[in-house]
Amino acid sequence: MKTQVDIAVVGAGIVGIACAYSLALSERRPKVALIDPLAPMSLTSAASGENYRNWWPHPVMTAFTDYSIDLMEAVARESDNRLHITRRGYALATRQADPESLLRQLHEGYGPQGAAKIRVHKAGSPSTYRPAESADWQTAPDGVDVIQDRRLIERCFPSFDREVATVLHIRRAGDISGQQLGSHMLERIRACGGRVIQGRVTAIERTTAFDLTVKGEEASSSVRADVLVDAAGPSVGEVAALLGETLPVTNVFQQKIAFEDVQGVVDRRMPFAIDLDRQLIDWTDEERTLLTDDPATKWLAEPMPGAIHCRPDGGEHGRWIKLGWAYNRQPSSPTADLPTDANFPEIMLRGASRLNPGLRAYYGHLPSRLSHYGGYYTMTRENWPLIGPMATKGAFVAGALSGYGTMGACATGALVAAWVLGEKLPDFARPLSLVRYDDKALMQGLLAATNTGVL
Ligand SMILES: Cc1cc2nc3c(=O)[nH]c(=O)nc-3n(C[C@H](O)[C@H](O)[C@H](O)COP(=O)(O)OP(=O)(O)OC[C@H]3O[C@@H](n4cnc5c(N)ncnc54)[C@H](O)[C@@H]3O)c2cc1C
Repeated sequence: MKTQVDIAVVGAGIVGIACAYSLALSERRPKVALIDPLAPMSLTSAASGENYRNWWPHPVMTAFTDYSIDLMEAVARESDNRLHITRRGYALATRQADPESLLRQLHEGYGPQGAAKIRVHKAGSPSTYRPAESADWQTAPDGVDVIQDRRLIERCFPSFDREVATVLHIRRAGDISGQQLGSHMLERIRACGGRVIQGRVTAIERTTAFDLTVKGEEASSSVRADVLVDAAGPSVGEVAALLGETLPVTNVFQQKIAFEDVQGVVDRRMPFAIDLDRQLIDWTDEERTLLTDDPATKWLAEPMPGAIHCRPDGGEHGRWIKLGWAYNRQPSSPTADLPTDANFPEIMLRGASRLNPGLRAYYGHLPSRLSHYGGYYTMTRENWPLIGPMATKGAFVAGALSGYGTMGACATGALVAAWVLGEKLPDFARPLSLVRYDDKALMQGLLAATNTGVL
């Protein structure tokens, strides 16, 4: 059986779906097929914390996510907020009273307009700071509040560690339902004649078009397409290899937990809260000795990286909280059987209790209603995505979206559509494509950066 389409998108995660959406809805209405052996949105996209932010250490990434948030907000407007977009912001906490390099990165990340967007609240100054009282994305402020007034921090973030001396409150940030966004886009794709073909692409032949061998559960079929989009998530490199290409990507496994905050220790109005500081996990002396004595666990008694995060999930009247800590730095080959670590929930809890000490109430007895899951951050060394043409004519890549693919999907889809259809591209599009590797100065700067925005 041979199916003929204009564009084949390999992978039906949030990124592939967003590409198919922008292409299928474009003026020329091309015939688009998404190909995936799994149910749409069921691999990495199902593990996402579903948070979004326009806070990055480089203005290209800020512009990219700002564009994506614009597009998500447009979907929210046209769908009566079906994607449940909220905007209480990100609260980045540190015990440093004057976090010089953090503030420098903040200014660099927001580029020339940065100064106008950043409001500093020091002790003794009449404060104009507005706490995140509401989750409404339409009335939330923009820009960033830098709070360096301990009293104000205590009043507005009562659950935080009393040693916190600075909070950066990023206001264009919050969370969405990625699954709802995916379903909304899939419905629109289908309404435009697009379709999902179940099966794994196992071979690609490039003649006058792309001939794809698609292995279904029972039989193989083939799909012929003029254009190919590789949006295979953790397998983006494998699909590129079917074209004889190598992509500069690795996969790093990361985990999350969510549980019912039965003791109500996390304020339901708390923004997505991130502890930026490195830490020694809060083990007892006995636990620390046991961990140190075993070479396999010794690392848990040593200083751990910052960026541990926690947020309420399910709105003001919900009870669940979501926690994550992307401390793993070791690339590995993705396996269907995910390597979740049974100790992760307790490690996560101990780490998160440093910023929200109320969480100590759960030490040793996490609630039974707990979910522990994970997925791969598919990433480049510089943690920028790969969006644009591949070396093979007619082939495009949409991948390496690391820990920001849910928030970056809409912009990725729109950029891929612009590349495929030959439309005008925004300035930030080229540096996000493979073309950037030819720009030695840019790459040198990116690879020398101490912060690549991994959360
Ligand atoms: C723990 C965790 C937390 C995260 N938190 C956030 C967050 O808070 N905010 C955020 O924005 N992002 C977050 N992310 C990142 C985000 O989830 C990913 O960047 C995004 O889901 C990637 O989407 P994708 O479509 O590229 O990949 P996937 O969802 O993995 O989809 C790829 C699809 O390709 C298919 N495929 C692979 N090979 C083939 C083949 N040969 N033929 C056909 N199909 C194939 C797979 O079956 C799969 O369905 C998080 C990720 C993880 C792991």
